[in-house]
Amino acid sequence: MKIAILGAGISGTTLARLLAGDGHRVVVLEKSDRAGGLCKSQLVDGFTFDEAGGHIMFSKQRPVLDWMIERAGGADAVVRTERNTRIRWHDRWVPYPFENGVGALTKDAIVDCLEGYIEAHVQRRLGTACPENFHDWIDWRMGSGFARHFMVPYNEKIWSCDLRTMSSGWVAGRVPEAPMRDVLASAVGLASEGYTHQSVFWFPRRGGFEALVTGTVQGGGFELRVGTPVEHVRRTGEGFTVNGEDFDLVVNTVPLPLVEPALADLPEPVRADIRELRPISLVNVLIGVALDEPLPDLSWVYLPFPEQGPANRVTYFSNYAPDNAPEGHGSFMAEVTHRGDVSPTKEWVDDLVQNLGRAGLLRPEQVVLTHTAQSEFAYIDQNLAFADRIARVRDWFDTSGMITFGRFGRYEYHNSDQCIARAQEVHRHITEIARSGEPARPQFT
Ligand SMILES: Cc1cc2nc3c(=O)[nH]c(=O)nc-3n(C[C@H](O)[C@H](O)[C@H](O)COP(=O)(O)OP(=O)(O)OC[C@H]3O[C@@H](n4cnc5c(N)ncnc54)[C@H](O)[C@@H]3O)c2cc1C
Repeated sequence: MKIAILGAGISGTTLARLLAGDGHRVVVLEKSDRAGGLCKSQLVDGFTFDEAGGHIMFSKQRPVLDWMIERAGGADAVVRTERNTRIRWHDRWVPYPFENGVGALTKDAIVDCLEGYIEAHVQRRLGTACPENFHDWIDWRMGSGFARHFMVPYNEKIWSCDLRTMSSGWVAGRVPEAPMRDVLASAVGLASEGYTHQSVFWFPRRGGFEALVTGTVQGGGFELRVGTPVEHVRRTGEGFTVNGEDFDLVVNTVPLPLVEPALADLPEPVRADIRELRPISLVNVLIGVALDEPLPDLSWVYLPFPEQGPANRVTYFSNYAPDNAPEGHGSFMAEVTHRGDVSPTKEWVDDLVQNLGRAGLLRPEQVVLTHTAQSEFAYIDQNLAFADRIARVRDWFDTSGMITFGRFGRYEYHNSDQCIARAQEVHRHITEIARSGEPARPQFT
């Protein structure tokens, strides 16, 4: 078959490689000057910079993790790190996840958290229903103490909204849920580890996270057309035309609101739904520092409080791979999420750095470089209307013969390992179409 894939992020390039391996003729159309999407990295005055914030390689599925490591150049080309993350909680460094670090809080806060956790546990046992909005879900699952001392301020910062306007439907598997015993153990000072599938991670030794996509493209056997935005896609009898060229099949991985104007066959109600799929955007700030001693052995730090400045998370990026910063230097990346209302002027960046200084993460006088990158599509706005809206959109695609997947191609809150797993599912589906000659509705797990 001759197959067009729209978008050359990790989703599009992985699928292209798999299909080309079967002998299909695969053309990937990418608007940008190179493949990578949200996995892109840059080199800025000797500092590596992952444009869309701190990315790490990890997966619950070992074969997917093996695929990622292989694409990034194999075991010798990646650095393995044991996760060491903290929450900057006022003047304390609290281990993450918060429920596993509760013992590091003040005694009053520990009592607040335990009382609320036990009360929430009892309420759930009594059958209190799972709330639909995220704010009430936090209370229901974790109790009022955890809500007040971390979960609400942190989530208000990252999602930039009143959490009552957000659905609770997306949290399963995303927000760590510690067993009661772990929380009690932590409260009395016993160590407990949470979110264990991510307790070890890998990162490319050179080239930043983009090395994963570079290794997917290299030797992939498909045609990558960069600087080629998708402008027009139309169904034609048995196949499709894309920008005037005939294909047997089209697979989209471009964020739906960006590809919507090009899709000639979209019914008006589906178009209207797609236009309402607004993203949460990201400004990522690279901060290079001159070092007189190594950075603390940390992976990243969460900053839940407004007085710590706009960043919700700071990655200790030169700890991921020594080549991420030049000799004698280190680097941080500070992530700021927003809804289209942040512009990273010099004053804004200087202020962010001063805030990180006050929070005790760095010494501003050591900063030798700052650099910013913006990602319009970073997180999904999980508002209360989202689930119904995206279900209608997915339904249209799944019955139209045009497959769509990817973080914003299907609006699934997926990391790159899950995008790869999805690409493998789509590959199996297309293999079945090629074998039977019958277009079928894709079955996503
Ligand atoms: C802050 C943050 C932290 C993350 N951390 C991690 C992590 O630690 N580990 C991890 O595995 N994942 C992480 N992720 C998720 C990961 O970045 C994504 O899951 C993955 O990169 C999505 O890939 P994709 O190919 O689906 O989409 P994208 O990367 O968005 O690719 C879409 C492509 O479409 C192209 N495009 C847009 N418009 C057009 C057009 N009109 N025509 C043609 N092409 C077009 C874009 O240029 C882009 O290349 C993180 C994401 C964010 C935002």
